[in-house]
Amino acid sequence: MQITTSTQPQARFFLLSQTHLNLLTACPRKFQHVYLDQLGLPKLPEEEERQVLGTQFHKLMQQRELGLPITELIQAEPQLQRWFNAFTNSPPEMLMGDDLWSEGDYRDSEHQRTLCWHNYVLTGIYDLLILRQQQAQILDWKTYARPQNPQWLQQNWQTRLYPFLLVETSDYRPEQISMTYWFAESQGTEAEPQSLTFAYSSDRHEQTRQDLNQILKSLTSWLQLYWQGNPLPQVPIESGECRHHETNIGNSSESWCRFAIRCQRRLDSLMEGTRSKAISHIQELPLW
Ligand code: SF4
Repeated sequence: MQITTSTQPQARFFLLSQTHLNLLTACPRKFQHVYLDQLGLPKLPEEEERQVLGTQFHKLMQQRELGLPITELIQAEPQLQRWFNAFTNSPPEMLMGDDLWSEGDYRDSEHQRTLCWHNYVLTGIYDLLILRQQQAQILDWKTYARPQNPQWLQQNWQTRLYPFLLVETSDYRPEQISMTYWFAESQGTEAEPQSLTFAYSSDRHEQTRQDLNQILKSLTSWLQLYWQGNPLPQVPIESGECRHHETNIGNSSESWCRFAIRCQRRLDSLMEGTRSKAISHIQELPLW
């Protein structure tokens, strides 16, 4: 995902998505490395493959929504077939049954909303948006299992930004909006439902507005310093962000941030470990 800037530094504007906000919140220095310094490293082959399949699944669901043929897509890839079977066996509730549809309902896949906010353009692309007279539903396809801790997902910027954008760019009230995730790798059982829905509210909306104001105010001053040659702040090492990485919603693995050496976090830690080990081997000497 690219940050868009104009050619004149004094007239820069940034297109910010939930991905940018998540990274900025996790660690401003990581945001700098990825989006300002453009130091993104190549993905592992399995990550690459997973991403391609995820994109294909989104394309498949969009074609289905548009009433275009999908058989060829499904037959070409067993994994897509499996995910699509999971969808037909256990679709999100709002897509069950034609009788739920009334005249005047509106639905759109890959629906984009943008909002100008000072020097920034906030943007979100909804996998599926369903608008009814008194209700708006945002639906997002995830090609992994439902996270064990829904709280974590609730705090994710996707869950916060998407309803926020909809309220700010439509006549819907926060209480009329919900955000649903559908997880292709979940069991679809009572213990592990395939979908997870978050209701939106006026309180959440105001909190999101305040948080966005704060984050973007910080980003503006960090960027001014960055263009004068100063890096964005690092998170404290105790935050766990340098060691615990990354980025798939709900999945965390115990690996180092890929910038840990550049940030001197990994060396610090290795040296700290070595130092502690060395100190533990030094015999105590009496002080007389
Ligand atoms: S190593 Fe730590 S400080 Fe550096 S970019 Fe990664 S998370 Fe941020």
